[in-house]
Amino acid sequence: MLKCRELNRKAIAISALALGVAMGLYLATANLQLVSTTQAQESPQLSPVTALAERDAYFPGTEDLAPDEMRVIACGTGMPNARPKQAAACFLVELGNGDKFIFDIGTGSMERLTGLAIPFDYLDKVFIGHLHADHFGDLDALWVGGVISNRQRPLRVWGPNSTKPEYGTAYAVDHMQKMLTWDAASRLGNVNTQGLQIEVTEFDYKGVNQVIYEENGVSIRSFPAIHALDGPVSFTLEWNGLKFAFSSDTYPNKWWMEYAKGADIAIHECFLPPSLLVKKQKWPVPDALNVGTQVHTSPSMFGKVMSLTEPRLAVGYHFFNDFDTAPFVERQIRTTYDGPLALAVDYMVFNVTKEDIRVRMASINEDVWPLPSVTEKLPADPSQRVGFTKFLIEGREVFQDVINKIYDETNEEFGTDVEAPN
Ligand SMILES: [Zn+2]
Ligand SMILES: [Zn+2]
Repeated sequence: MLKCRELNRKAIAISALALGVAMGLYLATANLQLVSTTQAQESPQLSPVTALAERDAYFPGTEDLAPDEMRVIACGTGMPNARPKQAAACFLVELGNGDKFIFDIGTGSMERLTGLAIPFDYLDKVFIGHLHADHFGDLDALWVGGVISNRQRPLRVWGPNSTKPEYGTAYAVDHMQKMLTWDAASRLGNVNTQGLQIEVTEFDYKGVNQVIYEENGVSIRSFPAIHALDGPVSFTLEWNGLKFAFSSDTYPNKWWMEYAKGADIAIHECFLPPSLLVKKQKWPVPDALNVGTQVHTSPSMFGKVMSLTEPRLAVGYHFFNDFDTAPFVERQIRTTYDGPLALAVDYMVFNVTKEDIRVRMASINEDVWPLPSVTEKLPADPSQRVGFTKFLIEGREVFQDVINKIYDETNEEFGTDVEAPN
């Protein structure tokens, strides 16, 4: 019994120590001064009735972005195969001048973007590093879902060409639209389809540090990436003296070393190491070695890349980041890199200024609804409706009385006079 109590006391002491260390870390991060209990009552930071001024999570829609600040949010950090915890590649860059840019829009990432409670009119610019589904598989969801979520602006897409027209971005987007021919036709006259326009800018994948976007003080450049087939590129975004670099997918290469060098935040793929591709992904050893080290960048290769890039913060993504994989991946990175590092998971948030880079997790409202359009929401034009054949029209059971009642009640609620169809 005595032993037990001693153990308990020890456990409590260790817990208290851990709590103290954790609080110390929190206070250091939050840049607060430790206050005594008497002072605490007077501190606006620790009032019993007002909200905390400093929070260690990012709650979308509750924080202004400073005019000189860049906020980067991981909206997809996983693998080419889908899983609930991590969507595939997608990073949102928000700038203090009001501009927002999406880099890659991999499978599942549209859900994450929606969780950020941003009007979809602002989510109208997408830069695609390459045409693997895990890097652009949710473009259709952003295209159509964005319209349903009140985007009234065209969707603008930038992406590379390749060695054949059919390997290029324009072809992919054209055929995505063709795939959704029935979808788009079905919406005509039922919702406002202004936002269904797509503007594609296809650029040369061999362009070295070429400017592909320059507006409002923001320059986005591309340079070649080496991944799976000719065509992939990496990007940098420069604004207000801050530099964001995003690899999409690539084998280590000379262009990244030169043009991502010294970035404030450098986001580079860090694929699962071969041993985990065998044990967790259940791949044969030759494929794990080939894909892990020749198609992609393995963690120790990522470390070498970052030692040469020397960013203010290195961010690794593109692996299933779990309690048992993260320590293994980090140990491998640390054999070749000892600088600042974050291993991204979905909803990791980076606030970047010249003085500081703050890394937190976002806390998302899963019951989120779309925000209104930033311009007056226009109704559909019924004259555009494609309509049904006589075959289907004659199959309708029309509950006219019930429908009339719905129209009457809705008109009364909103002060409108929309006539019920007969
Ligand atoms: Zn890829
Ligand atoms: Zn990928």
